[in-house]
Amino acid sequence: MSHKIIIAIDGYSSCGKSTLAKALATKLEYVFIDTGAMYRSIALYFLRNHIAFDDQPAIESALHNIKLHFEFNPVTQKSDIFLNGENVEALIREMKVSSKVSEVASIAAVRDFAVAQQQAMGVDKGIVMDGRDIGTVVFPQAELKLFVTADPLIRANRRLLELKAVDPNITLEIVAENLKHRDLMDSTREHSPLRQANDALVLDNTHISKQEQFEIALNWAMERIG
Ligand code: C5P
Repeated sequence: MSHKIIIAIDGYSSCGKSTLAKALATKLEYVFIDTGAMYRSIALYFLRNHIAFDDQPAIESALHNIKLHFEFNPVTQKSDIFLNGENVEALIREMKVSSKVSEVASIAAVRDFAVAQQQAMGVDKGIVMDGRDIGTVVFPQAELKLFVTADPLIRANRRLLELKAVDPNITLEIVAENLKHRDLMDSTREHSPLRQANDALVLDNTHISKQEQFEIALNWAMERIG
């Protein structure tokens, strides 16, 4: 059996981390976990149940009632996230969740809840996980750590194209503002802020195609798999 590794992918919002993570996982036959989807689902639960983000006891009891799992969707060829048995993959991408998720993700109890599940998913290795703290907190021992980045305007335009399909009223200004807000909150929060791990390899995809980015990352992975 081949030597399995953990691939941790971190970076700013809408840098194409999940696309890269999914492509690597498919090629290597590894599990792919989009940890942003977990924080988004928790935020959706809090919004639906009117949980105040500073009400510690309410947060603790809400977390006890949240069950998250991923299921492979043969139509999209990717995993959808389920919140208490409901497929919320589309709902969690809506702006009302995007505008609150970074606040929810800054709560220590929320991070402890998500990180414990993420670490359990990686015990057998053979996993590609993307997020903001994967190489620094979730898997500091990961064999390959990538820090993905791209020009902010390019990121906003790419995200706009995706969101237009579900929300025709979305504008570049709304998207760019949301990315800026999340990047700032994610990199300045107290608990596990977005940071480039010391041993992470940087991938700036501003001027390279998805395919070129994939090939660079795959080479790095193969060097480590041996
Ligand atoms: O990856 P995505 O943009 O869907 O993540 C949504 C939000 O979830 C991020 O802006 C961040 O606030 C939070 N997040 C996090 N830690 C992770 C993954 C996502 O704080 N590992």
